[in-house]
Amino acid sequence: MSVVVPRTLTDALRAMAANPSALLLQGGTDLMVEINFNHRKPVDVIALRKIHELRAVKIDGETISIGAGLPYQEMESGQIAELVPALGQAARTVGSPQIRAAGSLGGNLGTCSPAGDGLPVLSALDAMINLRSANASRNVSIHEFMVGVKRNAKQPGEIIVSATVPIVRGWQGFAKVGVRNAMVISVASCCLVVDRTKGSIAVALGAVGPTVIRCRQAEQWLSTNVDLKQDAMIGAKLAKEFGERVANEARPIDDHRGTAEYRRHAVATLASRLLQRSGAR
Ligand SMILES: Cc1cc2nc3c(=O)[nH]c(=O)nc-3n(C[C@H](O)[C@H](O)[C@H](O)COP(=O)(O)OP(=O)(O)OC[C@H]3O[C@@H](n4cnc5c(N)ncnc54)[C@H](O)[C@@H]3O)c2cc1C
Repeated sequence: MSVVVPRTLTDALRAMAANPSALLLQGGTDLMVEINFNHRKPVDVIALRKIHELRAVKIDGETISIGAGLPYQEMESGQIAELVPALGQAARTVGSPQIRAAGSLGGNLGTCSPAGDGLPVLSALDAMINLRSANASRNVSIHEFMVGVKRNAKQPGEIIVSATVPIVRGWQGFAKVGVRNAMVISVASCCLVVDRTKGSIAVALGAVGPTVIRCRQAEQWLSTNVDLKQDAMIGAKLAKEFGERVANEARPIDDHRGTAEYRRHAVATLASRLLQRSGAR
């Protein structure tokens, strides 16, 4: 097995162009597990960890662009957690401190598991994913990037460079349910973002479908029943109905982590609680 360790993005893209089937390795918290279980047998690996450009955070006033290689520990607190609180909350729930020191959004996107905790946040914020190859750069909406269970729109020869999200004025939050409190893959997760400027709400669910699900009908229903431009208390009855409408849009399955019925119940509860929190003073 050959391992190339480029120091710059340009060198990594050159290495990818020369060998488009090479496997990209960032933190290795997904990939090394797959290799250990013999699910993958890489012949050539390009390790991205030494590339500083992939850890860059760029803020232009209205948007924030997060490098694909930035580890979760950098999102748990500080600037990113302040500007994108839901991402900070999601980052704090990932694995353990060791996993958060290595794991990255680029890896979450690369694996594209429906249970990836960064993905509902990127979906609720309508993130744009920047992909680069040796000859081209393109931006793909997160909704087009995630195409199925562990499948994404990345082409051979491309590297995920960053995810860009708007800096939203309003409330946002992420919550998940697992079989225990820490070090746990989501059985169900939910991200809710209230945009007070636009008067809109976005809700995205993880682990209850083949890929992350945006609940467009529940979003529409709420925005016709509540003036989301105002900071308003949300009553328990409204929140409960909202949760039920969100759950109706989930497409959960039974598996070793939980039943479809439990998952539906879980996302109803998560969405309802997050909505109530959004109006709490
Ligand atoms: C003990 C444990 C606990 C975990 N807990 C959680 C959890 O709570 N929540 C959660 O969401 N995940 C969890 N995970 C999974 C994992 O940590 C995350 O999915 C993480 O985001 C993967 O990032 P990474 O940098 O380690 O990716 P890697 O393992 O390095 O790569 C993962 C995939 O993405 C591809 N890839 C990586 N970077 C790029 C790039 N820049 N461009 C293109 N492709 C790329 C790789 O080729 C590979 O296919 C856990 C894993 C372990 C082992």
